[in-house]
Amino acid sequence: MKRFLLIRGAELAALLALAAIPLLVANPFALGLLTLLAIYGILLIGLDVTVGYLGQINLAQAAFLGIGAYTSGLLAGAGGLGILPALAGSFMVCLALGALLALPALRLEGPQFALATLSFGALAVTVLNEWEGLTGGAQGLSIQRPALLGQTLDAARFYWLCLLLLALVWLGMKNLLSSQWGRAFEALRDSPIATDAMGVGAYRHKVIAFAFGSALGGLAGGLYSFNFQYLQPLSFTYELMVILLLGVVLGGRKSLWGAVVGAAFIVLLPNLLSNPVMFRVFSIAGLLIAVMGVIGGIKARTALRFQTLAPVAAMAMLAVGSFTVEHTEDWRRAIFALMLFSVVVGLPEGLMGYAAMTLTRLLRVPAAPLPPASALDDVLPMQNADGAVLLQLRDLRRHFGGVKAVDGVSMTVRAGAVHGLIGPNGSGKSTAVNVISGLYAPTGGELLLDGAALATGSLYRVAGAGIARTFQNLQLFGALSALDNVMVALRDTYKTPWPLVLLGLARGEERKAQADALALLQLMGLHAQTRTPARDLTYGAQRLLEIARALARKPRLLILDEPAAGLARPDAQQLVEIIRRIHGRGISIVLIEHHMDVVSALCDTVTVLDGGRVIAEGAAQDIKRDPKVIAAYLGAA
Ligand code: ADP
Ligand code: MG
Repeated sequence: MKRFLLIRGAELAALLALAAIPLLVANPFALGLLTLLAIYGILLIGLDVTVGYLGQINLAQAAFLGIGAYTSGLLAGAGGLGILPALAGSFMVCLALGALLALPALRLEGPQFALATLSFGALAVTVLNEWEGLTGGAQGLSIQRPALLGQTLDAARFYWLCLLLLALVWLGMKNLLSSQWGRAFEALRDSPIATDAMGVGAYRHKVIAFAFGSALGGLAGGLYSFNFQYLQPLSFTYELMVILLLGVVLGGRKSLWGAVVGAAFIVLLPNLLSNPVMFRVFSIAGLLIAVMGVIGGIKARTALRFQTLAPVAAMAMLAVGSFTVEHTEDWRRAIFALMLFSVVVGLPEGLMGYAAMTLTRLLRVPAAPLPPASALDDVLPMQNADGAVLLQLRDLRRHFGGVKAVDGVSMTVRAGAVHGLIGPNGSGKSTAVNVISGLYAPTGGELLLDGAALATGSLYRVAGAGIARTFQNLQLFGALSALDNVMVALRDTYKTPWPLVLLGLARGEERKAQADALALLQLMGLHAQTRTPARDLTYGAQRLLEIARALARKPRLLILDEPAAGLARPDAQQLVEIIRRIHGRGISIVLIEHHMDVVSALCDTVTVLDGGRVIAEGAAQDIKRDPKVIAAYLGAA
């Protein structure tokens, strides 16, 4: 309750204060700035979807602002539409263009993606400039602000419309990001492979996220055109893009407050640069924040680091500059550079990230309470372990150039079995699992699940067929809590269509998901670390968390690739116990393992690989006595 009041209270108070300003002060200049604040707020919330959540440098948002602006301008002018249909038009056009751009661009990673979006931006501005018949080209386009439901919109009313839309976008975004969508966005930033393997569909989510963020850019563009009532293509170029990125990074990524604080910064920037007094105040405030970081470091007795000292130096330069330089506008690029440097180095979480951490601590905002855990029967219903043939590998092959990692493996896994897969290092165990789970396409051979061909070469589709796996090299969602890691993967849980999610109607589903995920964490003995980010867990706990996450898929077949690797004795013992319990639910398991005692304790059947081929198969005690196995593997081990 306290949490709810604090968070919702702050949001509501900010909204009401912003809405009340035009009633209290009649200052057209201030009203203009506030209107821009609301518009850029929407724009940056959209940009933060890709920059913050997907972790990609997106340089196309200025172009979407421009496209949205021209779309609304033309729909209202030549098209004669009202303001709301025109804005909806901008939203839809940018949604479609965003999806079109995302389809190829999101196949690229990192710098390539940034370049693709940069090219799109350049292309869009050129088209706006050259398509003179439609846009008026460099001459510019004049626009009338249409009426809203028969009411003409004066400056104050238009501001309230912008503010209302910002509030709606804020609310919708908040609902979306606290649903499974937001978790999926963050998960795929940390590990696209695991996101696919957990049946979430990394690429699909990326495209949707990018298109949605672009559509918000379009909506902001529509408002932008009705605000200025005059458009020129050159307003939407590279320099604006850099400023937008600066706004997101400075405000704080992955934060709605951060987007609005960033927007405030962008709006104030021109005044900041032209008004010496404001610029001095700003520089000194920046310097103080940087110095506070150093004092905090000294108090905490940590060694002084580059990350705390460098921003002090940069901000000191800015402060000195603010008293000596006469025309700060001439120095704008250098000033941006100093600010961006200080923020990226000193406040990687941005101003609001920093403020949120401090405030949460000071106000003791409690974490949202969790529901009681579901019954295990609910989360992992008993499956029939009747020994029928479940998975078949027939002459499976996977070659990497000349390396025949898997070279004609045939193997049958039965329902309810724990099937061991052993062999020396490099014998092809992980490769076999990677082919089964769809990470690699096979070079040849067949895979059958329940007698029907299994999709090959697609983690996502294999996950959909009921096979879940863990990874030999862990693939957790590092920034997400243990609970969220499991929640991402839950199968058949999230059914609310996204428009209802935006309206906040997925809460019940979310509580159920929490309860189910808790049950799985308890099964692993991880309930004390529910809220710990995965990357802060001990190595052993991380291994267990990967198993919990795979179980969230309610799999028919669970593949564990060396789950005991690197575990201390007692942890390995605990793991054996846990695998027994999973087996007890009727789940079939393929277990890759080096410790022969673990294999003997758990496995009904064992297949031994060497050089990509099966050299033996049978019960564990027979395998241990097989001379071929001793020669190839056990003798050496
Ligand atoms: P295991 O899990 O049994 O230790 P792997 O399946 O990881 O063995 O590796 C089998 C062989 O395939 C090794 O020689 C390895 O170097 C090679 N290999 C595995 N993955 C790749 C890959 N992605 N590209 C090239 N070679 C690979
Ligand atoms: Mg391996």
